[in-house]
Amino acid sequence: MEQWQQLLRDSLTEPAQLPAHLCGDCTSLQTVTATFPLRINPYYLQLIEQPGDPIWRQAVPDLRELSDPVCISDPLGEEDLSPVPNLVHKYPDRVLLLVTNQCAMYCRFCTRKRKVGTSKMAIAPADLDEAIRYLRQTPLVREVLISGGDPLLLSDERLDKLLSRLRSIPTIEVIRIGTRVPCTLPQRVTPRLAALLGKHHPLYINTHFNHPRELTPEAARACGLLANNGIPLGCQTVLLKGVNDDAATLRQLFLGLLKIRVRPYYLFQGDLTCGTNHFRTPTSQGIAIMRQLIGHISGMAVPTFALDSPGGKGKIPLTPNYILDQGTDLSFRNYLGETCIYPESGDPI
Ligand SMILES: *Cc1c(COP(=O)(O)O)cnc(C)c1O
Ligand code: SF4
Repeated sequence: MEQWQQLLRDSLTEPAQLPAHLCGDCTSLQTVTATFPLRINPYYLQLIEQPGDPIWRQAVPDLRELSDPVCISDPLGEEDLSPVPNLVHKYPDRVLLLVTNQCAMYCRFCTRKRKVGTSKMAIAPADLDEAIRYLRQTPLVREVLISGGDPLLLSDERLDKLLSRLRSIPTIEVIRIGTRVPCTLPQRVTPRLAALLGKHHPLYINTHFNHPRELTPEAARACGLLANNGIPLGCQTVLLKGVNDDAATLRQLFLGLLKIRVRPYYLFQGDLTCGTNHFRTPTSQGIAIMRQLIGHISGMAVPTFALDSPGGKGKIPLTPNYILDQGTDLSFRNYLGETCIYPESGDPI
C-alpha cells in the first residue's frame, strides 16, 4: 500500500475518535455526522494547533451545521442542469463532470455537502459511459472540468483511463481537474501520478487552499511536482468567516501560493448551502478585502472575487468600484484612493 492510501485508511471518521482536546463533548457531534460525513486524515489533523483555529474550523464538525436559518440544498441548481447523471452543463462551452464522491477530508463548508461522501452521490461506471456519449454528441463543449468529490482519490489506473477516454473526443480541447489533494493529502501527488497527468495535456489543475498554514513543505513538493510535469496550477479559495476573512491572512495566502507555483484564480463568496451559514461573510466584506489587495500586491497574486449565482445562473465577479464618472472623460480612484482622469477625447489634459 502506498503512503497516501495508508493515511486515508487511518482517517478519523467518527466523532468519538477525535482527540478529546479538540472538542468539549465530541460524541455530541454524532448528530451532525449522521447527516454530513466526517473524515480527517492524519496529515491534515496534524495541521490543527488548537480548537477554533483556521484548520480546525475547516475540518471539525459543528452543531450549527444542523440549524441553518436560510439555506438551499442544491444552491447552484446543479441537479437541474444535468442532462446525464453527474454531468453539469451550465455554460455553453464547458461542463463539470463529477467522478467520485470521496475526498481526502470532508470540508465543513463544502458546497456539495448534501451529498459528498454519502450514498446520495452514487457514481456508477455506466454514468461515465453516458457522459462520454453526451460529450461526443455536444461538440460545442471544448472543456471538461473534472470534479467530485476529489478526482485525485481515484486510482492511477482509473484516472488514466478516464483522461484517455476524454482525450479520444476530438472536440474536447482542454481538461481541467479540481482537487483539494495538494492541500489536504499532498502525499497523493506521487511522481507516477504527476507523470500520468502530464500525458494528457493541455491539462490544468485548480487546487484549493484557504489558509497560509496549509502551505507546508509537503504541499510545496506536491505542487512543484505537478508544475514540473507542465501542469499550470490555479487556486480556488473560499472566503470563510473565522478562517481567512481578513486582508492580511489572504495576502499571506495568495503570495505564499505564488511561491509554490500556484496562481490564485477565484476567491469565492460562500454559497447558500445548508449547513454552512456560520462560515458566510457579507459580500461587502469580501469587496472591501479585495480593495486592500488590488494594486497593493502583485496582480499575479490577486484572484477574482466571485459569487456563484443561486439557481445555476453562473459566476459573477464582485469587483470594487474604481469608476467615479464615465462622462466625457473617465474619472476614477486608484488603489491609493487618489482621483485620476483618463481623457476619452484623446486631447491632452
Ligand atoms: C464554475 C463552473 C465552471 C467553470 O467556470 P469558470 O469560470 O470557467 O472557472 C463550469 N461549469 C460549472 C457548472 C461551474 O459551476
Ligand atoms: S475537497 Fe472539495 S468537494 Fe471535497 S469536501 Fe472539500 S470542498 Fe467539498
